[in-house]
Amino acid sequence: MNNRFIKILHLYPKDMNIYGDHGNLLVLSKRAQWLGIQVQILDYNQGERFPTDFDLLIGGGGQDSGQSKVCFDLQRVAGSIKSAVDNGVPMLLVCGLYQLFGEFFKPIKGSTLPGIGVFPFSTVGQKTRMIGNVLARSREFGDLIGFENHSGNTVLDRSAVPLAHKILQGYGNNTDRLNEGCRIQNVVGTYLHGSMLPKNPQIADWMIGKVAQNRGWKLDFSNMQKPQHLDDWTNQARISAKSRPY
Ligand code: GLN
Repeated sequence: MNNRFIKILHLYPKDMNIYGDHGNLLVLSKRAQWLGIQVQILDYNQGERFPTDFDLLIGGGGQDSGQSKVCFDLQRVAGSIKSAVDNGVPMLLVCGLYQLFGEFFKPIKGSTLPGIGVFPFSTVGQKTRMIGNVLARSREFGDLIGFENHSGNTVLDRSAVPLAHKILQGYGNNTDRLNEGCRIQNVVGTYLHGSMLPKNPQIADWMIGKVAQNRGWKLDFSNMQKPQHLDDWTNQARISAKSRPY
C-alpha cells in the first residue's frame, strides 16, 4: 500500500456546473483511486479562501448569468491560477469557464466579461446557438465526443493551439467549424459537455499522468483496477453518441 494522495480543485461548482460536467470530477477521482491514489476534492466558490495547493483543477459551464457572477472573483484568484498553470498543474475547463480562461467574453446582452488570459482567444456571443453532439479529431487525444450548447463564438489567436484540429460533426469553437477547444501547457479547454471525461477517458488518464510527473511517481496504467466492463461501456457510449444526429 502506498500513501499517494492528490487534491482536485473544483472551480465554482455552485455557479458553473451544467450538462453533466460534474461527471468529469467523478471520472478523475475514480480513475485516480483505481490507480491506488487517494483523492480529496476541494470546492472553491466565489468569496472563499482560494486553496494554496492542488494537483488538478476542473471547471464547468454555466449560463451567461453564472459567468457574470463569477468573473470578477476569477480576476481576484487569477494570479494563483496562472502560477499553477506555469507549474504544470493539469486543468480541464469546459464551455463557460473555458471562455473565461480566454481574454474576454462578450455576451449577446450585457457588458463584456473579462477573462484571465490563460488561453489566447476571445469569445463573442451571437444569434446562432450551437447545440448538439460533437465529434472532433485531435492529434493528441484521438476522436473526442461530447455535447455542446453555446452562443459564444470563440476565435483563436494565431498563436493558439486547438484541442481538436478537425470537426466531423457539430461546431466546436465557432460557426466556421474549423476547430474545437484549446491547449496550453497542461491545460485543456473545450466546449464539450456531456460529460466530457466519461466518453473521453484518455484525457483523464493524461491529466493523472501529468500529476504523476509533477510528483515524480511512476504509475502503471495497464494495472488500473477499474471495473471489468468499463472499457466496453465507454465504447458503447462513444458509438451511441457518434451515431446520434446533430
Ligand atoms: N454562456 C455561454 C454561451 O452560451 C456558455 C454556455 C455553457 O457553458 N454551456 O456561450
